[in-house]
Amino acid sequence: MRVLLVEDDEHVADALTAALRQYGHDIVTAPRAAEALANLDGCELVLLDLGLPDLDGVEVCKRMRSRSAVPIIVLTARADEIDKVLGLQAGADDYVIKPYSVHELRARMEAVLRRTCRCGVGSHDHDSSCTPEQRDLINVGPLSLDLRSRSVTLNGKPLQLTRKEFELLAMLAEEPGAVHTREDIISRVWDENWFGSTRTLDVHIGTLRRKLGSYDWIETQRGVGFRLGSPSAL
Ligand code: CA
Repeated sequence: MRVLLVEDDEHVADALTAALRQYGHDIVTAPRAAEALANLDGCELVLLDLGLPDLDGVEVCKRMRSRSAVPIIVLTARADEIDKVLGLQAGADDYVIKPYSVHELRARMEAVLRRTCRCGVGSHDHDSSCTPEQRDLINVGPLSLDLRSRSVTLNGKPLQLTRKEFELLAMLAEEPGAVHTREDIISRVWDENWFGSTRTLDVHIGTLRRKLGSYDWIETQRGVGFRLGSPSAL
C-alpha cells in the first residue's frame, strides 16, 4: 500500500518509514504541508502529524479531504484537537495519540482500511464512484453508524457512546452476523499488545447492550466471542 507520511520530525519519520516498509508498504514522506498536498495523488492512506512548520495540520487535513476521500489518520500529541480533526469539517478517519507504538498504529491503519468504502460490498476497493458519505455509513436495520462523525443512531435517536464502545460496535456492525473472537476484538479495539483483563471487554459489551436497549443486539457465542445480532422485538 502506498502511504503518505506527513511528519516534520526527521527522526520520527525515518523510524516510522523503516518500520512500515518492513510490512511491505511503499512510504512517501513529506516534512511540510506543501509537499504533503503536492504528493497526495495516488496515495492510499495518509498519516498526518498535526504539528507542521508551514501550515496547521487541521487545515492540511481539511484541504486533503476537500480533494480526496483517501483515509487519513492523524498523529498528534494534541488531544484537545481531536474533536476538531474528526469532525465533519476536517474529516480525518481516525487518530493516534503520541507517543504510540508501531503496533498500535498498524492496528489503526488496518481498521481504517477495513471500514473504508462500504459501498463496494466486502471489498477494500477504493471505488471512485463511492462518495465519502456512502463510504462511512453502516446501516443494520434501525441501527445506523456514521464512521466519519463517529455517531450512532437507533431508530433515528442518537446514542451517546464512548470511543471504545463506538469502535466495538463498529467492528461488529461491519460484518453483521460474523462472529468475532475476544482476541480479535481486544487487538483491534484496544491494542495488539494489550495485556489487561478481558473483563474490560465484558464491561464494554454490558454498557453497549444497555445503551442499545436490548441484550439481543450483541450475541455471545459461548467460548468464542461476540457477533451483532438482530433483536426480534424491533
Ligand atoms: Ca511535528
